[in-house]
Amino acid sequence: MLNHMVQEGRLEKWQQLKINNMVGEIQYHNGKLGSLVKLTVSLIKANPALIDDFEQLRANLFASMPELQNKERCANCEASMREYIYTFDTWDALLLLSMAIEVRKWQQDGRTFNEANQVRVPELNVPHSVKCRTTKASKLGLVAPVMYKGRKDRIPGVWLITSRGWAALRGERVPKKVKVWRKTIEERFDQTITIQEALESHKRFREGVLERGGKIKGHDLGALKTYNASEWFDFDIHAGKLL
Ligand SMILES: [Zn+2]
Repeated sequence: MLNHMVQEGRLEKWQQLKINNMVGEIQYHNGKLGSLVKLTVSLIKANPALIDDFEQLRANLFASMPELQNKERCANCEASMREYIYTFDTWDALLLLSMAIEVRKWQQDGRTFNEANQVRVPELNVPHSVKCRTTKASKLGLVAPVMYKGRKDRIPGVWLITSRGWAALRGERVPKKVKVWRKTIEERFDQTITIQEALESHKRFREGVLERGGKIKGHDLGALKTYNASEWFDFDIHAGKLL
């Protein structure tokens, strides 16, 4: 019945769209590249000197198609062009450390490394500002979400420490920054950092605030403040699968 109505053109466009949606038909947006090429050609036709004057050609293109100047959005499809730079800081270090302490505890309780290296982050006894660093720490390659067995979806709130995360805990240098564009890591910078340095920079920051007579909102992180890389040298991660 519906099909006949579509064929006979008796449905409004939105109704047709709704039907297309139901059967999952895929179409592709045209984008603006075609218009951009046409515009370029017509500008050059009107003024052939533009071929040798890129600055002027660009200025003319910008005048006719102002969206080309918008760095925020792709001129072709309007998707965001925003890149994010993530820097390993104290809160990422504290997340890693509190997760590692949890893994060690579970291992001491008799779990295998793989079983233990599945931390329920929301249940950790650390400030919210530390718990909410999982996504950032995953961009830095230190932690990864845990998936349901044999499935591609993640177990909410459960994260594991990656081999890079364990290397960081042992005091090794890891990338200090990554640049992420549309959820993929585009670039790692040459700069590296250790957990110790990440913790110390915050300590210096706190001391600076106190020296200037300022106040610090309480984050008494107890055992986490006494990080010692050598504690993690001999920690047995060899039995486990590492990412
Ligand atoms: Zn685009």
